[in-house]
Amino acid sequence: MSLPIQVMKFGGTSVGNAARIRKAAQIAAEASRDRAVVVVVSAMSGVTNTLIAAAGKAATGDEAAAEALAEALKIKHHEAIGELITSIEKRRELLAEIDALIESAANYCRGCALLGELSPRALDVIAGTGERLTARMTAAVLREMGQRGVAFDATNLIVTDETHGGARPLTVPTRAKTQAVLLPLLEAGGIPVVTGYIAATTKGVPTTLGRGGSDYSATILGGALDASEVIIWTDVNGVLTADPRIVPDAVTLDEVSYAAAGELAFFGAKVLHPMTLRPVIESAIPVWIRDSFHPKQAGTKITHTVRPAPLGVKAVTATRDVAMISVAGPGIIGVPDIAARIFGATASVRANIVMISQSSSQDSICFVVQAADAQRTEKALRDALYEDVHQHDLEHVKVNRGVAIVAVVGENMAGTPGIAGSVFSTMGKEGINIIAIAQGSSEYNISFLVDSSALEKAVKSLHAAYSLGKRETEGGSRETVPAAS
Ligand code: ADP
Ligand code: ASP
Ligand code: MG
Repeated sequence: MSLPIQVMKFGGTSVGNAARIRKAAQIAAEASRDRAVVVVVSAMSGVTNTLIAAAGKAATGDEAAAEALAEALKIKHHEAIGELITSIEKRRELLAEIDALIESAANYCRGCALLGELSPRALDVIAGTGERLTARMTAAVLREMGQRGVAFDATNLIVTDETHGGARPLTVPTRAKTQAVLLPLLEAGGIPVVTGYIAATTKGVPTTLGRGGSDYSATILGGALDASEVIIWTDVNGVLTADPRIVPDAVTLDEVSYAAAGELAFFGAKVLHPMTLRPVIESAIPVWIRDSFHPKQAGTKITHTVRPAPLGVKAVTATRDVAMISVAGPGIIGVPDIAARIFGATASVRANIVMISQSSSQDSICFVVQAADAQRTEKALRDALYEDVHQHDLEHVKVNRGVAIVAVVGENMAGTPGIAGSVFSTMGKEGINIIAIAQGSSEYNISFLVDSSALEKAVKSLHAAYSLGKRETEGGSRETVPAAS
């Protein structure tokens, strides 16, 4: 490739209506003057939720769900296309393509209603429809602007394993396919517009990369194409010191390391899908998070090389999307294979363990999984430990869904003394009870479990305690550790 490649992803609100799609196309067209540009698009905001809800309803036998879905999607997309495409013939062509995709999703829902079930495989096909619609619309708008915009379904580019609802990419075939399909168009000055979120197995069965997965699609494609950078255009100006919906005075971090940004994503900062940075860390491709509503602002740069200062806490994040599972009873002590059996059971259902915590007493093992994994993890544990509970070696397998994980994140936190003390003394001052503390947390974060009702108070008080709302001082050092008391 003669020109550097820039992969840019537009999230749901950045393609949320006709004006936003036009703006996204303008940003891509402008960038393409001196670079090769690959566009990745999410579904219009709300569309993936609508699709998933319709599939769920259909599975209960509700035959009207498919009709309601088709109508809602047609209204939303027809309205945008009416504003975006002026030529009657081109508009008709695009509408026909859009309607066929919507009808196909509705047909799958009809099938679910008939069968009274929804398999993870069918759900992936239905849920990924929104991206296929926006990719075609955005490519058509680029053509309206005189660019060579071509829509691609990532089912022909990104190859994954068979984990429906959270598939993992296979690097080698993904690289081969992506290069073979996209490089010729890029060489010819065209702009590929690729669906985010979706992919397919080696056998061509459609998968999805998990909710919010379009960020991941962008970096997978960036890695596969040896891109010079990836830009994630969203509705906030970068990675902020906290979720702005909780802390209105949260500020943009100018730069953050892959490691710290990865921890923020892992512990609930919705701005990045948790896996986003994996495909670009090794090749050190910088990732920018920028605001498509204010494209002149620089946003956040994520790389290996961040300025050494500030040390200490850089951001606070939290998530309620977790459940705590505890296995307790006298039999935990002295049964050598108990931990192996517990984690064998969690592995058998591919539960994502977010945190393993230290319990106050010795007779319990307690860990935290993603909320979506809780039910099947509980079942697997009850099955695996049935005999032990029966013989009263174990007292219980309990699931507590009313918890939240709070994490303070920053580079070099391990090298900054006193942070743990000050974090927990801040919680003490606020009267927030710590249910558990993560064991062996990385040097980039301190994470702990609280009652979910305390989430907002915990995030707000930590953000204030570390003065994260203030701008960095000239030397780059943000005030960090308040005295532990
Ligand atoms: P998109 O649709 O563009 O993918 P998302 O809604 O998935 O956007 O992610 C952006 C949102 O993430 C922001 O609007 C903000 O509310 C939320 N968010 C949570 N934590 C953070 C954070 N630390 N920095 C920035 N945004 C955050
Ligand atoms: N549309 C998908 C979702 O809502 C993927 C994404 O937006 O990144 O989860
Ligand atoms: Mg997102």
